[in-house]
Amino acid sequence: MTYLLVIDEGTTSTRAMLFAPDGRCLGSEQRDLEQHYPGPGLVEHDAEEIWEKSLECARAMVAKAGGAGLVAAIGITNQRETVLFWSRRTGKALAPAIVWQDRRTADLCAGLKEAGQEEMVQAKTGLLLDPYFSASKIAWALENWPQVSAAGADLMVGTVESWLVYRLTGGLHVTDATNASRTALMDISTGGWDQELLDLWGVPASALPEIVDCAGIYGSTDPELFGRSMPIAGMAGDQQAASIGQACLAAGDTKATYGTGAFVLTHTGETLQQSRHRLLATVAWQLGGKRIYALEGSMFVAGSLIQWLRDELGLLESSAESEELARSVADNGGVYLVPALSGLGAPHWQPSARAAISGLSFSCGKSHVVRAALEAMAHQTHDLMRAFASDGARWGVLKVDGGMVANDWLAQDLADMLDLKVERPEFIETTALGAAMLAGVGCGLFESLEEAEAMRGKAVLFQPDMEDKHRDHRLAGWRQAVEAVLLQTTRS
Ligand code: ADP
Repeated sequence: MTYLLVIDEGTTSTRAMLFAPDGRCLGSEQRDLEQHYPGPGLVEHDAEEIWEKSLECARAMVAKAGGAGLVAAIGITNQRETVLFWSRRTGKALAPAIVWQDRRTADLCAGLKEAGQEEMVQAKTGLLLDPYFSASKIAWALENWPQVSAAGADLMVGTVESWLVYRLTGGLHVTDATNASRTALMDISTGGWDQELLDLWGVPASALPEIVDCAGIYGSTDPELFGRSMPIAGMAGDQQAASIGQACLAAGDTKATYGTGAFVLTHTGETLQQSRHRLLATVAWQLGGKRIYALEGSMFVAGSLIQWLRDELGLLESSAESEELARSVADNGGVYLVPALSGLGAPHWQPSARAAISGLSFSCGKSHVVRAALEAMAHQTHDLMRAFASDGARWGVLKVDGGMVANDWLAQDLADMLDLKVERPEFIETTALGAAMLAGVGCGLFESLEEAEAMRGKAVLFQPDMEDKHRDHRLAGWRQAVEAVLLQTTRS
């Protein structure tokens, strides 16, 4: 028996997991990553720490497998958009990694937006002009970090999977098409770096990796690292990997991940479809040089709202208690919570919006507020579903994952409010599973992603069970609450 080793490098931690080809997860090793906040809106990681801790976790899983000879292939999945800078010569980091959450380039992006560049950027990349994406971060580093700007031909730039592959192989510089699609430097219709975009951001092509498929043998690990070398055969950004792990393999298939924030991806097929409703168009995967596309919408605040109710307001002992409290009342008692704690994401894109709890009376208790917080997940998802539908992407079943959907009440509320079947897999680590599936395809264990789907186990189905008038009433209340928040935003 041989195994698939996955490196799942996230924002707050990195880990490695070991899978059997039938999908069983045989082990996991995790290390927390230090978050650096050098100033307001600035978020950095130590690139060497990312490498060292990922290596430690991978080594633990190689030992678990019984040695590198028993690992058929490595798959990598990662926090997207975060950029790293290193030396071609030494392979060592030249600067901190600038993390996706970092807002230091807000003015730069706003300036380009004012200069009328957003249309071109969106047409080529499927993205909007926002600090979230890698390009403005690279431009900033080239302008402000002398060790980066002075590196010249020695400079290597890449997202996290690029960095890990460079170190694992001792010098291979590649990125997969999903990660590349989040940089705002790739023309997603051609799958190549785009000169007009490189010029816009002032990024030298010589520093960038080669864009490759999400599966295939890219190279092998340096034999010094694990005793002998192992092939690296699959890569995708975390949300795309989760979508694959949820077997969203046909057009219309949709997954929603409810973690700290929430990310929804709908597979839109082989034809690139731009959003007219401020969703993002992105690459779902690339195999055999052919790209499959997706539309993506995100909510900035999901599980972090429950954390906030727990840690800041003290309404909950634990996140899980939210379920009990929501069930303890018959309805929301007229209370609505618009969770714009860090602005409103798609489809509103109002970064300066502020959260609100409305409809309170003396007959309301903390259970109503907690219930309103959980209900906000279905409400926000409903707004996204409408935006996706307006873009022609209609959802069938909604496949859910992430820490929040351990909450059965929430999963049922999603089914009820969306009037859709909601499917929750028993094995919830869909991101790592997707990377394992890609690695399995890349090393030839599976012929196709459809064949690799056998790795996905059983799922629980939540059936919609709510009267229309009930749903309409809730949606009307939500709409009113959101409008009040948006009105407040334009006034302030
Ligand atoms: P991430 O991958 O973004 O770190 P996770 O997928 O691990 O996040 O999800 C953790 C989030 O889910 C936390 O914000 C937590 O508050 C929330 N959460 C965990 N369990 C529950 C629950 N039973 N009900 C509601 N929210 C929950």
